[in-house]
Amino acid sequence: MTAQSSEPVLRARGITKSFGGQAVLKGIDLDAHRGDVVAILGGSGSGKSTFLRCLNLLEMPDAGTIAIGGTAAPLRYDGKGGARVTDARALNALRARTAMVFQNFNLWAHMTVIDNVIAAPVHVHGVPRAAAIDRAHALLDKVGMAGFAGHWPRQLSGGQQQRVAIARALATDPDLMLFDEPTSALDPERVREVLDLIRALADEGRTMLIVTHEMAFARDVSGQVVHVRDGAIESMGPPEAMFGPDASPVFRAFLSPG
Ligand code: ADP
Ligand code: MG
Repeated sequence: MTAQSSEPVLRARGITKSFGGQAVLKGIDLDAHRGDVVAILGGSGSGKSTFLRCLNLLEMPDAGTIAIGGTAAPLRYDGKGGARVTDARALNALRARTAMVFQNFNLWAHMTVIDNVIAAPVHVHGVPRAAAIDRAHALLDKVGMAGFAGHWPRQLSGGQQQRVAIARALATDPDLMLFDEPTSALDPERVREVLDLIRALADEGRTMLIVTHEMAFARDVSGQVVHVRDGAIESMGPPEAMFGPDASPVFRAFLSPG
């Protein structure tokens, strides 16, 4: 459950990915240690989502290494852009130590709120159903959604759906949480409730990578800001440096175009 203290929770090296000959990731290196909150900023199409999907092994990189809590992803490359999973069980075990929160919530529409939250604990982690339900109720309470256990996703607002999605992500007690523009699909008045929740998780010491366009939030909540541009890390550093007077001109131009 806990990573070796000497090992970063995430170590990614040289991650590359192309789609149809177009290089989308050009060799990304990133570490996150326990409790780190890393904000990933960058323009549309720069490769942010592809990078998160590679870390979650939803997408297989074309090259590079990924280790979660010191365990390397069991991938072998043929050097021609093909990745082979050398141990499917180990890959699934590694994938199960991360959790992703998506822009469009991606709750399972045919399942109630509580069933969404218990699905991975019960079916992936083998948690007894009664224990999973108890924990799910506690998590729904934590995200301010107590009393909605029997609702269907379509009965909830976007902000409510995203809070359920965060409860679902927490249900497996992941080592690493990946947020992909968690507030971009929300009405403005719902953004704050989700940002406040993510901030509370940061304060609890969760290790998180957050792709976001909420610059004030990124600056405030993260310990490390990463600017991804055209499939590569253009600059990175603590928010005081990235948003300070000596920031990269390229990053400054991204923040204030024109
Ligand atoms: P971002 O999240 O920064 O907006 P993405 O990672 O979604 O960027 O996409 C980066 C580039 O990769 C875009 O040009 C996008 O069209 C392309 N891309 C992403 N996923 C796929 C895919 N499954 N097939 C083909 N092209 C893709
Ligand atoms: Mg994206």
